[in-house]
Parts: sequence; structure tokens; C-alpha cells
Amino acid sequence: MSEQGSSQGKTYPPDPELSKTANVRPEMKDQDLEEFWDSQAKERISWFEPYDTVLDWQLPYAKWFVGGKLNACYNAVDRHVENGQGDKVALHVVPDDGPDSADAHDITFAQLQEQVVRFANGLKKLGVGKGVPVGIYMQMIPEAVVAMLACARLGAPHTVVFGGFSGKAVAERCNDLECKVLITQDEALRGGKTAAQKTNADEGLDGAGSTTVEKIVVVKRTGGDIPMNDRDVYLDDLVDGESSDAESCPCEPMESEDLLFLLYTSGSTGKPKGVVHTTGGYLTGVATTHNLVFDVKDDSVYWCAADIGWITGHSYITYGPLVNGVTSVLYEGVPGYPNKEVWWKIVEKYNVSILYTSPTAIRSHMKWGEQHAQAHDLSSIKILGSVGEPINPEVWEWYRKHVGGDKAPIMDTWWQTETGHILITPLPGITTMKPGSAQQPFPGVRPEIRDDEGNVLGVEQTGNLVLTAPWPGMMRGLYKDDQRFRDTYWSKYSDAYFAGDGAKYDEDGDIMLMGRLDDVVNVSGHRLSTFEIESALVEHGDVAEAAVAARKDPDTGQAIVAFVSLTGDKTGTEELEQALREQVAQSIGKLARPATVIFANDLPKTRSGKIMRRLLKNLAEGEELGDTSTLVDPSVVDEMKKQIQG
Ligand code: ATP
Ligand code: MG
Repeated sequence: MSEQGSSQGKTYPPDPELSKTANVRPEMKDQDLEEFWDSQAKERISWFEPYDTVLDWQLPYAKWFVGGKLNACYNAVDRHVENGQGDKVALHVVPDDGPDSADAHDITFAQLQEQVVRFANGLKKLGVGKGVPVGIYMQMIPEAVVAMLACARLGAPHTVVFGGFSGKAVAERCNDLECKVLITQDEALRGGKTAAQKTNADEGLDGAGSTTVEKIVVVKRTGGDIPMNDRDVYLDDLVDGESSDAESCPCEPMESEDLLFLLYTSGSTGKPKGVVHTTGGYLTGVATTHNLVFDVKDDSVYWCAADIGWITGHSYITYGPLVNGVTSVLYEGVPGYPNKEVWWKIVEKYNVSILYTSPTAIRSHMKWGEQHAQAHDLSSIKILGSVGEPINPEVWEWYRKHVGGDKAPIMDTWWQTETGHILITPLPGITTMKPGSAQQPFPGVRPEIRDDEGNVLGVEQTGNLVLTAPWPGMMRGLYKDDQRFRDTYWSKYSDAYFAGDGAKYDEDGDIMLMGRLDDVVNVSGHRLSTFEIESALVEHGDVAEAAVAARKDPDTGQAIVAFVSLTGDKTGTEELEQALREQVAQSIGKLARPATVIFANDLPKTRSGKIMRRLLKNLAEGEELGDTSTLVDPSVVDEMKKQIQG
């Protein structure tokens, strides 16, 4: 691996003021892990019945807070109303056309409770109750959050299917979990365009031959004219006359280990996996990490700009912030619509103090230029977050400078659908930050970096990131697939969870995430991280995004192919290609120089916004492309193909 990690760059010590007031305390790191999680579970979660065992660990299956009874919706909604917080805003709802829209509105915790109760009463009429699974296929509208909570209230497990997926994906996932009811909306409204949502669902379910779905509940978003069949009912009609009084629909007491939801991974590396999450441990994990990583206070305004279709939306839009009783922004739209300033308008209007988003979104803003952020007062921002991919140091610096006012610490949070919540992250007021890596285990988390033989590696040795002890929000298996669960995560090492990501420790004991294990290229026997090469490319002012793959080379074993998209309306020239090679040589070494540079308008991305590296690898090798169904825009690969072949 190259010698120059991001560890060689600038560091940012914690603000002493923040160190004094931060919720997280340094001594938490030294606590026994069961003690730590036990105290968090007692502090942050309301239990109907106390648990008797903190942890029952029978590798690879963990049970947390065994014997305890609780309800996720009670924790997220009801108890805040009971505690006199009913008038506090739970959600600032920002519609697709932005914060100035006439449809922008606030939902208080008391109103949220009313909406959830009515929705749940409606679902009950359709036979939904404890243990009856429900599918949710929606966009980022408040009813999506309400639907999740209504299911949780009734003890009905949900599976949310990302609203941008096809009807086929809906059918596969709903049939897998045997959902009886599907909740969707008439049409999607994103970036000013409407798209079929309910009709997509119909096509998927009908095309699947048979389906377990008996009823479709349709939320009116656009009011568009859509076909309604016998199995369909509008939410408005379903809840007409239903009570919104909490007592009319009490929260179902659930076992700590009862299924809360099933969620599929985003499919960056292959066929999505159906990840099982249960109630008590998951809620404890998301509430604790949300509170301590983002340092939430009573008056925080928190905005996670992810989608509820991903785990980030489950843990850090719906469950974490609501369990913590925090005011959040819920945004329906996409970056760049109705204009490139809309994000910063939202921050300004609502005084957002915590913003949590992905490197891919930040790179879009960077590409458009900082003038849009500069046109707004972002001084309310206290903490920034990043998730989903490693964040290039250059992008990190931009984020801090132009969004964080040169002072807000950035929480670069490493975690997975499988882990349920953040596991590796800087901590506010404690960690000296290094742009480009997640750095430190969260309290109660026990990582290690090992080689393929299982040896624990030392400083600057890249290996496999593993976790040697259980944590509360960890997956409780892959749905109905014990074998794949064991094979994927527990067979590489007999005693540890294999995350599938590469990492190394630097000389200060910080963990540097190096991307996925297969994102490593081998040039003349030197193992180079594609992420580091990409970060070097992005340092060049003309480069918006870069992705690196390898092709076979008779001399060097592998040769590096760089896919690059440019800022503004720049075009790729031979001169620029040379400049980029030089840039990489300078920051990493000559060995890491790309043999080929392919310029493109955009890079192929999954719907979760991640660059689809598997496909670039195939492209670089001139191989068949395989499954491209999770790509946002399959046409971007055609242009690349031409350049490679030409
Ligand atoms: P699939 O497992 O189906 O291939 P996926 O891994 O993209 O899809 P997610 O669970 O959404 O699905 O993403 C988790 C992965 O994202 C991590 O394993 C890691 O590779 C990457 N990741 C997330 N956050 C970070 C981060 N802060 N730094 C580095 N990598 C990150
Ligand atoms: Mg994964």
C-alpha cells in the first residue's frame, strides 16, 4: 500500500468549548462494553418491562436486552407527548419545490402521534397487527415516516423499498417477507418531475405471477389520476372517521428481539441481502450513536439528507432522531432543484445545526461551486456528518470550509446496513480530525485489522476490518438465509465479523478506511488503494469526481484506468490527462499513475448514489457488464465503452 495516506495531511484538533459541553465523555471509551450499552439502554429507551440479560452472545447470533419489552413507536413519539413535549416540532416538512413552497409545514410530536394513531387504526382494519409484515414504497414525504411508525406501533415488521426502485424490486422484497399490505403513494414528485409510483408497484406485483400482497394503501401526493383496483384503497378513505386518540390504538408491547424491520443492502457488490433488525438493541444503538456522534441538544435542528429507503434513513431520519426527541428537517427533493441554492436556503430558514449527508451529494455541490453556499447564512451549523463512502480529503475540506464555516467538525461515520448504526467515527470535542477517514471506534465497539491469515496487523499495514465483539444494532441474520449470513460475514474468521472493507491503523492509532477490499489494484506487486488514487485525482481543480479500476497488463500485472468527470463545462484534453497523471505521481507516487484516463459527463452510480465500481472494473477489462438494474442512468456507460474500445 502506498505510504501516503490521508494521515499525512492537515489535522483539526477539537474545539475546547465543544469538549466542555459535548454529550460524549472520553471515559465512555474505557467502559466495559456491556456496562456501556446497558447504561445507554436504560438512559435512552423506555421499557414497558425491564430486561434481565444485557447480552446473550452465541456467535454469529446476538440477543440484546433479553426479556425486555418495549415499543419503537412509543419511544419515538408517545413518550415525548407524555413528557410535555407535544408542542415541539418533530418534522419541518420541506416539499420538492423547496422551503418557500406553500406546502412547507411543521409537524409537532403531538400531531405526529395523531397521524400515526389514525394510520395504525386504518391498517388494523386491513388485518395488520403484531407480526404481520408490511411493505412501504414511498418517497420522502411525511406519510412515509408515519407509515413506518404506524407499523412499529402495531408490532408489524416493515420493509421499505427505495422509492426510486422498480416495481419488480418491490415485488421481490414484499413477497420475500410475505407482506400482506403495501403502502405507496399515487405519484412521486422529485426535482419537479412526477413519476409513476403506484402504477410501478402494480406492474411489479402483477408481473411477479403471484404475490402475498392483498391490499395496497395509496397516499395522495400529487392527486394524479391513477388506476385504482379492488385491492387498492386511498389512505384518506381508509382512515376516514378513525380515531387519532392514542388510547384507541395502544403501542403493542414487543420483545426486545422481535423483528422491527427487514432492509436490503444497496447492492453495490452484488445481489442485495435481506438484513434483519430487531427492536431493543437496534433502538438503543441508533439513539445512542445519534445523540453522542451528533451531540444533539434540546434545541438542535437536525437534517439528514438521506432517503428512508436506505439504512441511513431508517436509523438517522426515522428512529434515531425521533427516539431522541429532536426536531428534524424532512426533505422531499433532490439537490439542485428548484435551484442550486435550495439546500442552503433550508439550512438558513430552519437554522439547521446538524447536517448529515453523503460524499456524493457534497461532490455535486462542489461541482456547482461554493457561491451557492456563500449566498446564505449557514452560521447555525455546528456539526457536519458524512456517510456512505470514504470521503476524499479534498471534498472533506470543501465541506468544512464552505458549509461548516471553517469550524464545524465533520463526523465521517463508517457503518453498514448490516451494522444498523454508526460504529467508527470521530467524536465531537474528543477526536483530532483527519480529513478522509472515520478514525475511531465508537464506545463499546471493538474493531481489529487482520490479514488474510487472521494475524492482527500493526501501523500502516492494510488489511481486513473486523469487529471482535457484538454491538446492539448488529444484524440478526439474513432473512431466511442462515447459510449466506455465515458465509458472507462469519466464515473468513471464526471469531469475528468480517465487514468486507479494507482499513489500516496510522501511527496515531486512527483507523483509515480504504474502501472495499476488492477496491485494491496491484501494479507491479504494489497494492494501491483505488480510494487514494481517486482522492489524488479530485485534488485537481478541474475534476469533479473520479473512480479508479484496473485492467490486466502484460508488464505490470494490472494497469490503472481512471474514470473522471469534470467540473463546470470543462472538457477532457490530452494536456489535462497528462496533468492528472502528474497529480497522482506527486501525491502518491509514479506507480499509481493511471495508464488510461476516460473522461465522462458522469460516473455510473447506484440509486443510493455510490459509484458502481464492479461495473467500472468490467468496463476497464472490456468484459460484459452484468446486472445494471440498480444504476440511475445506464446511458453513461455507453459513452465510456466507446472511449475504451476506441
Ligand atoms: P452491498 O452490501 O449490497 O454491496 P453497500 O455495501 O453499498 O451494498 P450499504 O450497507 O449501504 O450497502 O453500505 C455500507 C458500505 O458503505 C460500507 O461497507 C463501506 O464500504 C461504505 N461506507 C459507508 N460509510 C463509509 C465511510 N464513512 N467511510 C468509508 N466507507 C464507508
Ligand atoms: Mg455492503
